[in-house]
Order: sequence, then structure tokens, then C-alpha cells
Amino acid sequence: MVVSKKVMDFMDKGSWIRKMFEEGIALKQEYGEENVFDLSLGNPELDPPVEFFERLTLLANNPEPGMHRYMPNSGYIETRTSVASQLSLETGLEFTCDHILMTCGAGGALNVVMKTLLNPGDEVIIFEPYFVEYMFYADNHGGVCKSVPFIEGFIPNLDVFENTISQRTKIVLVSSPGNPTGIVYSEEILSRIGQIIRLKEQELGIKICLVSDEPYRKILFDGAIYPQIFPHHRSSIVVTSHSKDLAIPGERIGFIAVNPFCDDVKTVMEGLTFCNRTLGFVNAPALMQHLVKYLQHVTVDVEFYQKKRDFLFRELTSIGYSITKPGGAFYMFPKSPLEDDVRFVDELRKNLVLVVPGTGFGAPGYFRLSYCVNDSTLENSIAGFRKAFESVSL
Ligand code: PLP
Repeated sequence: MVVSKKVMDFMDKGSWIRKMFEEGIALKQEYGEENVFDLSLGNPELDPPVEFFERLTLLANNPEPGMHRYMPNSGYIETRTSVASQLSLETGLEFTCDHILMTCGAGGALNVVMKTLLNPGDEVIIFEPYFVEYMFYADNHGGVCKSVPFIEGFIPNLDVFENTISQRTKIVLVSSPGNPTGIVYSEEILSRIGQIIRLKEQELGIKICLVSDEPYRKILFDGAIYPQIFPHHRSSIVVTSHSKDLAIPGERIGFIAVNPFCDDVKTVMEGLTFCNRTLGFVNAPALMQHLVKYLQHVTVDVEFYQKKRDFLFRELTSIGYSITKPGGAFYMFPKSPLEDDVRFVDELRKNLVLVVPGTGFGAPGYFRLSYCVNDSTLENSIAGFRKAFESVSL
């Protein structure tokens, strides 16, 4: 059997995190688990909140009749209604179950949205540095990603953004707090993005959908209020999941929410539901839908991550690293002290610290670290960060 050339190329492009993961296994075997500081993976170290286990136990002891059967492809009405009520509270808009589709995580949701909206050759605009899977998801559905560079503070270069929108642009995809930066886009940036989209829609006679990928939207620091995208463009869709806010990424549960003011809401929802089914997801996992309908107001302890951010930011900046302080999620994207980020990441590896080069996120000259690890791993990684910094600064 021969794997296609395209998939071979994609595997190579998207292989940074896997490479670091494999390096980690080899290093741990050689030096012992406790002596290797693996900050390369975005896999939450936290357990889900206690409410999750309470609901799970209650359900296991009181199973509902037919709870493991097929269901409407968009998900249970009660679960979608619960998601809609929470979203109405958060956004001030009137969501109902008819605006919500339950999905297999945010990854599944993005594939469903792209399948539903893209014609062959349509363009999806993404902002650097980006979650690398976006390119592969767009390609799955005949789309092509066009990326827009950033200015100071990982803010999109809006002039370039305006010039990147073409006759083929169908989706503008934002993600905040972002992976790999943890940067939160302000209300003002989202408003400018919305204005530019409408300007270009008029100029080019096209329709563009603003899609927001928000798996980290509830992991926000310093008491910040989440800037919603819905007020900034009518034709807008949020995709998200409970992978990070309930720390259950292995359970594959998330949802799509379509702006109630979007034109053709009904047809869009029908298209999304059809694609959820025919992409082979069929519906989001039943067991999780039975649980998350009770957990829409619940989030992991955000303080847990904020303390780690504060510790790491303080320690790394005092060594001399240049970092834009993240406002959420559990990633940091420091500037590499060497222009060649791949070489610097190798220097860190020699000091038994594993991170991912910015090159893997469309932003050479930086590196990503994930601080969703235990405190001792973080604390013990600092010596390696110092040694690597000093070795290239000589
Ligand atoms: N989008 C971003 C920005 C992510 O970082 C991730 C996972 O790390 C996903 C989407 C996919 O998340 P999920 O587990 O919900 O599919």
C-alpha cells in the first residue's frame, strides 16, 4: 500500500509536535522520566472538575433508557438547549437549540464547518502564528489557507489582512486565546476585522463567514471578560469544545454555535448537520452529551494555570527571554534568542527541555512551550532554559 504524496508532505509539515514527543520518549528512557522537562504537548495535566465526576457517577447509577442509541445528528435537544442558554447569558444574544450542533471536539467542528461552507479552491484566511491543523482541515474540504503575518504582540497585520482577502475568500478564521501564543484578541481588533470583512464583501461582491475557534475561551487570566465575535459580523460561527475548559480532550465533545442573526441560519444548520453525519462523525458522543448539559457553567480552576503563567513569565524574562505575556490558554511563545528557532530548540533539548519550534506554527524565530504540566516539571525546567540561553548568548 502506498501513502499519497500529499499526505506524506503534510505529515512532514505537521510533524514538529510528534517529533518532540518521540524525542521525549527517547530522552526519558536515557535520563529517567523525572530528569526530562517536556513542555511540548498541550495535554491538560489537570483532572476534570469534581462536578464532572459527580454527574458521571449519577448517570452510571441511574442510566436513562435508550441513552446509548442513535440520536438526532445535531445532538440531543436538551444538551443543545443547555449550551444555548449559557451562550445567551454570555453573549446577550438569543440562542436556541436550533443554533447549536454538538460535535466531536473543536477539531471535528472545524471540519464540519469547512465541509459545509467551502467550494473547491475557496480560501480560508488564518493568522500567524496558527494552529497547524487548520491547513490540513481546509485541504480536507478542497480549501486553501492563506496566512496573514503579525505585528508587535502577535496582533494581525490588518493592512496585509485587507489585501489578502480575494474573490475566493470564504472563511476568516480567528482563534483567541490562541495556540501557540495565548494572546487574547481585544474587542477593538475583532471590530476592525469585522469592518474590513464587510468593506471587502461590498467591494468584491462576496460573502465571508467569520469563524472563531475558541477551545481556550474560558481559560482567561487577570479577571478578563471574553471578547465575543458575534457582535462584529452577522455571518459568524463559533466552534469550541470542552477539551480544555473541562479538561476532557480524550472524550471528544464540543459544539458549533451559529450567530442567530446570520442570513440563512436554517439552511446553514441543515448543512452542518448533514456534514456532521456524512463526515462519519454521525453525532457527538452520547455519554458526554448527557453530562455536559449539566456542566455549561463549570470550568477548570483557571488560577491553576494563571499561577504557572506568572511563575514561568517571571523566571524566563528574568533570564533574558523576550515574551509577550499571554492573557489565557496554557501556552507561551517566547522569542528564540537565536534567529534559527530549530537550532535553539535543539539547544534546549540538549538541556533536557522539550518545546516546539515556531516554524511549526508559521512563525520562525519563536518557540512554543505548554505549561499545562506539574509544578516540579516547570520549576526544574528553569535551569535548562538558563543554560541554553547562556550558551547561545556567549
Ligand atoms: N483549535 C486549537 C487552537 C487547538 O489548540 C486545539 C487543540 O489543541 C483544537 C482546535 C482541537 O481541539 P479539540 O480537542 O477540541 O478537537
